[in-house]
Amino acid sequence: MSGVNEADFLGRLKKFEGQPAASAGVGKDLVNEPMIRHWCEAMGDTNPVYAGPDAIAPPTMLQAWTMGGLSGHGDGSGRTSGYDELFELLDGAGYTSVVATDCEQEYVRDLRPGDRITYDAVIEAVSERKTTKLGTGHFITTRMDVRADGHLAGTHRFRILKYAPAQRNSGEPSASRKAAEGKGQAPPEALRPRPVVNRDNAGFWAGVAEHRLLIQRCDDCAELRFPWLPGCHACGSARWGAVEASGSGTVFSYVVMHHPPFPAFDPPYAVGLIELAEGVRMISNVVGVAADKVRIGMPVRLEFLRVDDELELPVFRAEAA
Ligand code: ZN
Repeated sequence: MSGVNEADFLGRLKKFEGQPAASAGVGKDLVNEPMIRHWCEAMGDTNPVYAGPDAIAPPTMLQAWTMGGLSGHGDGSGRTSGYDELFELLDGAGYTSVVATDCEQEYVRDLRPGDRITYDAVIEAVSERKTTKLGTGHFITTRMDVRADGHLAGTHRFRILKYAPAQRNSGEPSASRKAAEGKGQAPPEALRPRPVVNRDNAGFWAGVAEHRLLIQRCDDCAELRFPWLPGCHACGSARWGAVEASGSGTVFSYVVMHHPPFPAFDPPYAVGLIELAEGVRMISNVVGVAADKVRIGMPVRLEFLRVDDELELPVFRAEAA
């Protein structure tokens, strides 16, 4: 894109700043105790201010009261065409991918059971073209003003990057696809998603490459942690080492996926929360047993599953009782 055209394109994007993204949206439910309770249980938040006759809603639930859920909003979303038109413009210029980058919330007043939620949203900013590790594109910031019974309760700023993905291999078929074709097999429909390897978890994936399941251990208080994180949740220390898991564990909990279908996955399959013998838990597949035969407490043993030429994953095989 030439400099002149780029400036022209940015000018067209900037015209969306200040346009409404949603107008006079209405929350599907009044603020209510059951949703507050489920939220607190999911978050492990036992603060007593969120229960009882004078309960307030956790402030971070702000956006939850505006969401349409699986069935959508119907006519109540207040969604305007501005956001869709901005997306069409970016899609048309090749910025076809989207990723949520961050959100900021400000709280003005408490929400309490019985409050009626309404909201408006505005496209607050469209950035100039930026290049990130994911690809090149434009950041879009949307600000939602959430009201309770007509009074501003808080604002929710949500930022996404609409981008053209960086091509890792110039559009060439992947090595595993080429290998499948070379063997005269039908190429796979889709590949399993790749893990995002970063400096916080690179050590874990280096372990997987050596068929070792590594757990972080705090150098200061010896607390074990999984998944890998830069700091200790017990003492805050940033100093850590790693210990190798023995590989034995039990199914702490599980779900069996039937729907929706995802490319590269063949339902039904069991996704387990595995409690390792060392005490930490990790999510992985339970293999070697029919999905409907997985049970809580079932003993499992670590093995490494070669998914394709480029991906190997730790999974857990049900052990014979
Ligand atoms: Zn620690």
